[in-house]
Amino acid sequence: MKNIAILGSTGSIGTQTIEVVRQYSEDFRIVALSCNSNIDLLEKQVREFKPLLCAVYDEDKAKELELKIKDVPCKVVGGMEGLLEVAAIKESDILVTAIVGMIGVMPTVTAIESKKDIALANKETLVTAGHIIIPMADAYGVKILPVDSEHSAIFQSLNGERHNEISKILLTCSGGPFRGYTKDQLKNVTRDDALNHPNWSMGAKITIDSSTLVNKGLEVMEAKWLFGVTYDKVQVVVHPQSVIHSMVEYEDGAIIAELGTPDMKLPIQYALTYPERRVLDTKKLDFYQLKSMTFEEPDMDTFLGLKYAYEVGNIGGSMPTVYNAANEYAVRKFLNGEIAFLDIYDIIRDAIDSHKLIDNPGVDEIIEIEKNVYDYLDKNYK
Ligand code: NDP
Ligand code: MG
Repeated sequence: MKNIAILGSTGSIGTQTIEVVRQYSEDFRIVALSCNSNIDLLEKQVREFKPLLCAVYDEDKAKELELKIKDVPCKVVGGMEGLLEVAAIKESDILVTAIVGMIGVMPTVTAIESKKDIALANKETLVTAGHIIIPMADAYGVKILPVDSEHSAIFQSLNGERHNEISKILLTCSGGPFRGYTKDQLKNVTRDDALNHPNWSMGAKITIDSSTLVNKGLEVMEAKWLFGVTYDKVQVVVHPQSVIHSMVEYEDGAIIAELGTPDMKLPIQYALTYPERRVLDTKKLDFYQLKSMTFEEPDMDTFLGLKYAYEVGNIGGSMPTVYNAANEYAVRKFLNGEIAFLDIYDIIRDAIDSHKLIDNPGVDEIIEIEKNVYDYLDKNYK
């Protein structure tokens, strides 16, 4: 029996994690759940799985939920303290970080200190604090199991191989809904156009990130930390069919890949059952139907999200945090209809250019940098 805690159980990854758990209820037990404010869904999850603890970041909603589930023996907690309690709960073996944004940094650090393995979906945490989290996981003997489909594919392609033989990571990318667009065409795209991803159904923030290629940029940095490679060894390959989920090229030229239909339940389940594989009720790949797969070079001069990611990644220190914080800020504004699509790139650029680099920032500094970026952008873009 594996005991699971989930940060962000009401979101896209969170609910798919729950589907996996439901299918293997004899092997998995949910001990803690959490959300930001969607207490209606959290209540249903609590009633179904009877966890020991649930956390709601919004404190008022936490109080509301407490009243609603008075009849269930589940402790309700609120705020960041609540998320940290979920991360550290004594009864769990693994924490699924399905929360969105760099708010996941503190809970992830706490979980590692509490010796919990991490099924990591929350890429923003590795992007901003990878230099802290990876050595810390090593020191505490904690496994970080990737949930992001590309990184799960890389992880699977590395099974049984020695890491020093990696010559290149080939990170595949669908290209998003605007693949092939010119800068001019991007000027007028709307929020709904951007939310219409061709292959994957995901939360709103990552869907926008996929349309700007910021998501791929975050994934380049995530790959650097997870697999210990330098940026010149991570190459993005646009592959619109999303059949190859990513690949590893070895020194002898052999390339190993993981392929399948796009279903996040596969990498989620693999992270939970690793090193075992289990039956998964998903559509299987049919090569007779597939017929062809195509590949392109990403257009980094148009999709600046990816170009800037390599830039900030190579600079390192506090720059990836600035890139990520500015993007989170800009995406929120874009989703609210307050800015145009290309403004997202301008906002990230502005934040990078106005930031004075801090080498090797600690967790508190990372949180402070995020706040400073928000304050700076608020002054200029309110
Ligand atoms: P969603 O927006 O669908 O869900 C986010 C979850 O986090 C929700 O449960 C939400 O609660 C919770 N949450 C948000 N803010 C807070 C907060 N301040 N405090 C506590 N909980 C919070 O996101 P996704 O599931 O799409 O993405 C989650 C993470 O996984 C992201 O980092 C994303 O990049 C990554 N990922 C996602 C993939 C996907 O297919 N969706 C694929 C690969 C990676 P509430 O419902 O109450 O708002
Ligand atoms: Mg991905």
